[in-house]
Amino acid sequence: MRDQDNGVRARNRARETVSNHASDAQDHGVAALPLRGAMNPSTQAQGTSPGSFAHASDVGGPLAFSSPDTPGMPAPSSKTAWDFLPDGWRIEAVESALHAEGCAGHNHPGIGPFIRAVAPAGFEPITQLEFARLGLVTAEMRRVAEREGHLSPEQVRDEIAAGRMVIPANKAHLGFSLDPMAIGRASRTKINANMGASPVSSGTEEEVEKLKWAERWGADTVMDLSTGGDLDACRTAIIRASTVPIGTVPIYSMIIGRKLEDLTIDVILDTLEVQALQGVDYFTIHAGVLREHLSLIKDRLIGIVSRGGSLLAKWMLVHGKQNPMYDGWEQICAVMRRHDVTFSIGDGLRPGGLADATDAAQLAELSTLGELTERAWRMGVQVMIEGPGHVPFDQIEFNMKLERTLCHGAPFYVLGPLVTDIFPGYDHITSCIGATAAAYHGASMLCYVTPKEHLGLPKKDDVKQGCIAYKIAAHAADVALGIPGARDRDDELTKARAALNWQRHFELSFDPDTARAYHDEDLDVDTDFCAMCGHDWCSVRISKEIVEFASGKAEEYQREKAVRSAALTAEQQEILAKRGVLSPEEIHRLASKTRRAVGADAGAKASCHSDLVEADDAQRVQKQKLVPLNTAPAHNLPTHDPVI
Ligand code: SF4
Repeated sequence: MRDQDNGVRARNRARETVSNHASDAQDHGVAALPLRGAMNPSTQAQGTSPGSFAHASDVGGPLAFSSPDTPGMPAPSSKTAWDFLPDGWRIEAVESALHAEGCAGHNHPGIGPFIRAVAPAGFEPITQLEFARLGLVTAEMRRVAEREGHLSPEQVRDEIAAGRMVIPANKAHLGFSLDPMAIGRASRTKINANMGASPVSSGTEEEVEKLKWAERWGADTVMDLSTGGDLDACRTAIIRASTVPIGTVPIYSMIIGRKLEDLTIDVILDTLEVQALQGVDYFTIHAGVLREHLSLIKDRLIGIVSRGGSLLAKWMLVHGKQNPMYDGWEQICAVMRRHDVTFSIGDGLRPGGLADATDAAQLAELSTLGELTERAWRMGVQVMIEGPGHVPFDQIEFNMKLERTLCHGAPFYVLGPLVTDIFPGYDHITSCIGATAAAYHGASMLCYVTPKEHLGLPKKDDVKQGCIAYKIAAHAADVALGIPGARDRDDELTKARAALNWQRHFELSFDPDTARAYHDEDLDVDTDFCAMCGHDWCSVRISKEIVEFASGKAEEYQREKAVRSAALTAEQQEILAKRGVLSPEEIHRLASKTRRAVGADAGAKASCHSDLVEADDAQRVQKQKLVPLNTAPAHNLPTHDPVI
C-alpha cells in the first residue's frame, strides 16, 4: 500500500498547488490551466506551472500516463495479459496484505486486492512475464525500478504481468553487460536507434562504433538491421559491446545466401534459435501480414514499404500459402520463451506515405497483431507491437488509441511517424514532430529517424542528430504526461538561465559541448548577457534588475561577477569547425567509396540504379553485388500475383 499512500499524498499536494495557481489566475481575471490530471509534472513543490492537460496518473490501470481522449477515440481494452494465461494456469488471491506477495492493478474484481497466477506442478518460469505472473520480483525488475525513480519494483512487476510493460533482456545478453530497462506506458518514453551494415556500406567495426555513439546520445535500445557483410560477426560484436537491449529483424539473415522462395518454417526456427543464443533481446517478426491482406494494398501510392513485409508478401504469392510466421507462431513463441526474447511484432503493412496512412491494409494487420499478442501471452512471451511510419498529424492519436484497444495495452513501438513527406534530408525533424504526438497519445518507444532516412545509410553524425531529435520527442511527451520528476531538469535549467549562470546552464544541457561551443563562438566571456541581444537588450538581465531576484531565484546559481569562460575543449572546437558543410573534396571521397562498391564507372550512374530500363544489366549487377532476392524467374515461379 506504500505506493498508493505516496501517490495519494503526491496528488493532494499537487492539487493544492494547482488550486493556489488557479485562484491566483482567477484573481487577475484570466483563465487558469484546467484541473484535469492536476499532477505537477515536476517533483518540485514550487513548480511554477503545476497543471497538466493529461489524465491523472493511473499506474496499475489501463491508462498509466495518458492524454485525454479526443471525442471518437477507441476506449482502452478491458482485457490484459491476465486474460490470456497458458492452458492449465489459474489465478488465486494472495492472503497476505503485502504488495510484495502478489500483483495489484489487475482486472479481476472480487478475487482480492493482490493476486498471482498458479502454474501447473513442476513449471519453471523463464521469462519476465512468467515471473511477474507468479508474483515474483526479479533482479531485472528491481533494476528497472531504480532507473525509473517514480516506480517501485512491485509496480514494475504488476505492469509486466498485465502485458503493459516489457523488459527486453535475453538470458545470454544478461551474461554480458546489458543494463535492464523497461518499455511501457508507466515508464518514461524510450527511443531506439537503428544501425547495421548494408551490402554497399559500412562494416562490423564501424557498426560497433555507431552503437557506442548511439548509447552516448541516449539510445535506450539499438536495432542491428545489417543486410550485408558478416552478419553473425557483426551481431555478436554488437551484443557483446552493448549495455542496451539489441533488436533484430531475423528474416534478413534467413534469406541471405538463400532464395526467398526456399524459406521454410525450419529455416525460420533455426535462425531464431541462433540469434537467440547469441543474445538478441527482441525480434521483429512480421507475422501479421496475411495473404488475405494483400489485395488491400492495390490502391496504395507506395505499396509495402517494410522490407520484412514485402519479402513475406512475395513468399505468400509465390507459394500461394499463408504467412509461415503466422502459421508457425506457437513454434516461434517456444523459441522466444526459452531465451526470454521479447516480440516486437512487426507492422509489415505500415504506410509508406501520408496517402496510405490508416488504410484498410494497415488496420487489418493491426487487428491480426492483437490476435498474435494474445497467442504469445498464452505462451508466456513478452510482447510489444510495431507501428507506423508516415501518418498525418491529425490521425496519430487515433492510431495510438486503436492499438491500445486491439492489442490490450501491449507497449506500442512506433517509427516516427513522419507527418509530411516533402522534406527528405530533414526527416529526423518531420518525424520527431509525429513522434512527440505519438508518445503523448500512447506510444512507449520511438524508433528514431535520421536525416539520411529514405536517402542512404546513416553515418555517425546522422545517428547523433536522430538520437537527439528523438530524446527531445520522448522527453517533451513525458513532461506533458506528468510523469513524476520528468520536468525537474528543465526547471533547474530555467533557474540557471534566469540567473545567467552559463556554467550551470551548460552542465544541465543535454549536449553541453555544443551549447558551450555555440555560446563561445560569439562571446567567450561568461557574463550577464549573451551575444544574441547584447547587454542593453538582454531581457533576462533587465528582469533580474526589476525583480530583485539577486542572481535568479536560488542562491546556488549566484555569481559574484562576470568571468572569462574556460578555453574550449578540443571536442567543442571541433563542433565549431564542423558548422560549415563538408568540403566538395570530402563529399566526392565518400561518394566514390559507394560508387566503387556497386561497380559504377566514373561520371555514370551505378548500373543497378532503378531508373535504368535495361533490366538484365541491372539484375546482373544486383546479383553480383547486392542481396539476390529476385530469383523467382530462374525457377519458373510467378513473379507477381494476379490478385494485386
Ligand atoms: S542576451 Fe538575449 S538571448 Fe542572451 S541571455 Fe539575454 S535575453 Fe537571453
